Amino acid sequence: MKELHERKDRLEFNKLQKRLRRLTGSAIVDYNMIEDGDKVMVCLSGGKDSYTMLDILLSLQKTAPISFEVVAVNMDQKQPGFPEHILPQYLAALGVPYHIIERDTYSIVKEVVPEGKTTCGLCSRLRRGTLYGFADEIGATKIALGHHRDDIIETLFLNMFFGGKLKAMPPKLLSDDKRNIVIRPLAYCSEEDIAHFAELKGFPIIPCNLCGSQENLQRQVVKDMLVQWERQFPGRTETIFSAIRNVQPSQLADLKLFDFIKLETNKESADEDDDSCAITAPMGRMEEAVQYVDVLDIR
Ligand code: SF4
Repeated sequence: MKELHERKDRLEFNKLQKRLRRLTGSAIVDYNMIEDGDKVMVCLSGGKDSYTMLDILLSLQKTAPISFEVVAVNMDQKQPGFPEHILPQYLAALGVPYHIIERDTYSIVKEVVPEGKTTCGLCSRLRRGTLYGFADEIGATKIALGHHRDDIIETLFLNMFFGGKLKAMPPKLLSDDKRNIVIRPLAYCSEEDIAHFAELKGFPIIPCNLCGSQENLQRQVVKDMLVQWERQFPGRTETIFSAIRNVQPSQLADLKLFDFIKLETNKESADEDDDSCAITAPMGRMEEAVQYVDVLDIR
């Protein structure tokens, strides 16, 4: 009986690992994230996402048709109680080259951010700035961050709800000063898979709340909303992610993305290519269309 359970667990683990490898590999290829000769600086926070990213990248490195270097980097931000031995021990045992950058950003955020306000925004900006500079120092050609599909979708809704912008978090990004390329190899992977993988692998997780700050509460609200939707309509999260990859500027309203001003009719080509459109559909069909929209609950 015990053997059977072990076999089942192993099979489940192999399936999960294969899926994460396949999705990460696809994202890398789709966005040309890693090229031959790249030196990839993998940013490790000690959380489940970055451990998983490092693990999957190292396993892809062994079989990839291109050759690239992986260097792990962690930033010790001097939060009280940060267990500084955990990552060096883990990385040394793995045999992966690594650096630990020590910067007391904790004191800075405590000094600047008023008591009771969340410190995560400033903390992450300071961390990012330091990591970008360090990538230059060590000659890294790519900076890999552990954000996954669900982070990307949450960011989309946060920007929509609170920023009035239709923007998410790209799988590949050129930094504002154009000196660094940031990649997110886990862009296609779900948080659920990553959490499960991290648990099965038993990564030595370091919590990111040692400073006593809480993650953006609104992000948690959006996260809960998505979890709720997914429960009610399985597959919705993946559909939203597909939408992020399938944008139709002419069906939005951004004057910078689509030239609505210069829209012109072209009757000749319309006659040749008369594929009937919804507006000219007879009334009965319009009603059907409205019902269809109701069923999909997409209005
Ligand atoms: S929880 Fe603390 S260490 Fe983590 S991002 Fe927020 S402020 Fe920084």
